[in-house]
Amino acid sequence: MEKQMIDTLVGVLDKRMNRQLKQYMDVCVRCAICKDACHQYVATQDMKYLPARRAELIREIYRKYFTKAGEFLPGLYEARDPDENLMDELYDSTYACTGCRRCTFYCPFSIDTAWITATAKGLLIAAGRGNEILGELTDAALFKGDNMEMFGPIISDGFKDQEKELREEYGRDIPIPVNKQGADILYVALAGAHSIKPAAVIFDEAGANWTISMFEAANYGFFYGDPAKAKLIADRYMHEAKRLGVKEVVITECGHAYRVAEMFYEAWAKEKMPFKVRHILEVIDDYIADGRIKVDPKAIKERVTYHDPCQIGRNGGIFEQPRNIVKAISSDFVDMTPNREKQWCCGGGGASSRWTSSTRSVSRAATRRSRRSAPRERPCSPARARTAGSRSTS
Ligand code: SF4
Ligand code: SF4
Repeated sequence: MEKQMIDTLVGVLDKRMNRQLKQYMDVCVRCAICKDACHQYVATQDMKYLPARRAELIREIYRKYFTKAGEFLPGLYEARDPDENLMDELYDSTYACTGCRRCTFYCPFSIDTAWITATAKGLLIAAGRGNEILGELTDAALFKGDNMEMFGPIISDGFKDQEKELREEYGRDIPIPVNKQGADILYVALAGAHSIKPAAVIFDEAGANWTISMFEAANYGFFYGDPAKAKLIADRYMHEAKRLGVKEVVITECGHAYRVAEMFYEAWAKEKMPFKVRHILEVIDDYIADGRIKVDPKAIKERVTYHDPCQIGRNGGIFEQPRNIVKAISSDFVDMTPNREKQWCCGGGGASSRWTSSTRSVSRAATRRSRRSAPRERPCSPARARTAGSRSTS
C-alpha cells in the first residue's frame, strides 16, 4: 500500500480516536466471550467474523501509529501497517456485521462493536473500499431527495393509490394526509404500502392529527458508514418536521431508522429538535392503553411470540410495548428464550444483509445454527451496554 494511502488511513483513525475508541483499543483481554454471542461467528465458525478479530485489525494499525511500543517493536507488540490483506479482511468482517451489538452486551468490558464497525467503515471508505452497492444506494437516495420536482408527483400518486385501496378494503375513506401544516405527528415510513396503509388505519381509528411527507425513513448512508451522507438523508424528514410544526416524529422500521432519528440525529446536527421522536410501537401501545383504538383480544387464537429486533430492543430499550400489543390481541403469548437484551439477531441488520453478498449466506446459516447454539449467560448489565454504545454508529 502506498505511503500516501497509509497516511490517509492513519489520519482517519486519528480523527476518530476519542476517549471511547482509545479505551476499546486498549482493554480487550482476548477472553473470546464475544464469539459465542455473535450469530455470524456461531454460524460460520470463521475467525474473520469474530467480533474481537475485527477490532484487532484496527488495533494493529493503532499500535503501530499510536503507541511507542508498537512503533519501535512492531513484531513484538503485534503492530503493523495497513496493507491489502488487512483491508480485504476488514471489508469482509465489517460489512458482514449486522450491528446487533449482542457481543457488546456479553463483553465484560462492553467493547462496542458498532463503534468499531463505524471506524472500520470510515477506514474502508477512505481507502475507496466502501461497499459499492450501499454507496450507490446512498447516492441514489440523495439524488432522489434533491430532485423532488421529478419524484414528488410519482410519490403523491402512490399515496392516492393507497387511499383508493384502503377505501376498497375498508369501505370508507381513510385519508393519508400529505405535508399537513400543524399536524401533531409526522409519520416517517418506508417507501412501500406495507408500512403506510396499516399506519393510516391505526392513526385514523385513533383520531390522530397526523401527516406523512415525501421523505422516507430508510437511510443507506447509515448502512454504508458515512455519517455526513446519513445526516443529509435524515435532514429531509427532520427539516419537514420543523417546517410543518409537528409535536412528534413517529418512525416505523425495526432496523436502523429509529436509532438514526432518536439517537444520532441531534448529535450530527448539533441541535436540539423541537419535537420528540417515538417508534410506532410505542404510539400503538399508548393508543390501546388509552382506549383510543379498540382491538379484538381473540384476534390470534394460536400460541404467539415476539422476536425483539436488535435496534429497537437491545439498542433502543423498547421491550414491553410490543409485547403489550401482541398480548392485547392474543391469549397465549409465550416469550422465546433468550429474549429482550439477550435475543439473537435475526441476521437481517435492517436489511443491510441484502446488499452484501458475504452476509447473505452467513445470515441464512446463522438462522439455522443460532437456534441450535446455547448462548453463554455471562452478560454485562444492560444499562452498561446501552450506555457504552447507544450512540455508536455502524
Ligand atoms: S468479549 Fe470483549 S474483552 Fe473478550 S475478546 Fe471479545 S471484545 Fe475482547
Ligand atoms: S454486532 Fe452483532 S453481528 Fe456484529 S460482531 Fe457483534 S454480535 Fe456479531
